[in-house]
Amino acid sequence: MKAPVKSSASSSPAASTPAVEVGRPSGPETGAGREGGLDLFARLAEHDHEQVSLYQEQSSGYRGIIAIHSTVLGPALGGTRFWNYASDAAALVDCLRLARGMTYKAAVAGLNLGGGKSVIIGDNRTTRREALFRAHGRHVESLHGRYITAEDVGTTTGDMEFIKAETDHVTGLIGKSGDPSPVTAYGVYRGMKACAQYRYGSDSLTGKVVLLQGCGAVGYHLARLLHAEGAKIICTDIDPQRVKRVVEECGATPVGEDAIYAERGDIFAPCALGAVINDATVDRLAIDIVAGAANNQLAEDRHGDQLERRGITYAPDYVINGGGLINVNAELHGWAPERARSKAGEIYDTLLRVFEIAREERIPSYQAADRLAEQRIAALAQVRRNFV
Ligand code: NAD
Repeated sequence: MKAPVKSSASSSPAASTPAVEVGRPSGPETGAGREGGLDLFARLAEHDHEQVSLYQEQSSGYRGIIAIHSTVLGPALGGTRFWNYASDAAALVDCLRLARGMTYKAAVAGLNLGGGKSVIIGDNRTTRREALFRAHGRHVESLHGRYITAEDVGTTTGDMEFIKAETDHVTGLIGKSGDPSPVTAYGVYRGMKACAQYRYGSDSLTGKVVLLQGCGAVGYHLARLLHAEGAKIICTDIDPQRVKRVVEECGATPVGEDAIYAERGDIFAPCALGAVINDATVDRLAIDIVAGAANNQLAEDRHGDQLERRGITYAPDYVINGGGLINVNAELHGWAPERARSKAGEIYDTLLRVFEIAREERIPSYQAADRLAEQRIAALAQVRRNFV
């Protein structure tokens, strides 16, 4: 693994939309080679991806790509994204990027999972899902467990059931691990306490002012935990019903969608959308800590650098929101809910280690998280080198 991974990839059905621009012409960013072809092996070598598998099935119209970034720590896990990409190259690049993000996310969560991802190219509103997802299931099965799939943008638990008819290497099934958001919220809460410990020398959140952006599945559970500890919550959501619930149950103060960026407080908790730390917002934030569940919070890496320059402590998104992936892992291994929650609680120690690396190496925390992931992968690659 050479360069640090840019940001996070999602294990959650509520993931952000694909980062590859739809409609962008072929060029270096979309994987096209000098002669207009795709330098496929150069692409794989760039970030040390292990494998890419392509499969098409004409009667169902299935066109799918599975990318495996790393199986050093275990089988490559990552969801299936169903998206109408502008080109095959754009689909491949997105798949490779997301697969790599999963390697890092699993590694820092301390899970025995590698990183992979798959994409199905097409209109995800289609009603002809059975043949399509069974074709995908056969594709997954052909890798004999090197890749395990789950839901992602454009797919549902029902789609996972179709996949299950063809392979056992699928998670996120109906009636299994269920809604991951309570575990994710608990991990974010523990991560927030670690940030407070690092920043203030005490992990108590009593009396701290938390600006909560997004009162959805994770935001709501997080608000309850914060309220129970005596934090003051200022919240926003585009859905007034969701705001009302957090105001009524947690004594929160509501503010407008844009006003949240200018509120004074201690902690900003993005739990809605990606790319909320961007050129328009980063200098407005009047807080000490950014710690929330949203994927891909930094619009670009340089916004992480800007937070650092402003002295704002940033909990790297794919570290603090690892509870979703921990929940999937719990389903795979039949863990009791308490074990999943306890594992999510370890995000506290992981974040303290990330901040320590950042301090030692004088790098921003988003880069330190990548270092931590790479250290674990390298260490275990050594341990598992010998035949025993
Ligand atoms: P959700 O859809 O339940 O909640 C998101 C909330 O954000 C909704 O209430 C929505 O109305 C609100 N919202 C949308 N645009 C907004 C805006 N401009 N301003 C304020 N609020 C806005 O999703 P969720 O499951 O709670 O996930 C939240 C974030 O955390 C997502 O980025 C998701 O990818 C990430 N995440 C979730 C999990 C999980 O377990 N659910 C795991 C890892 C990461």
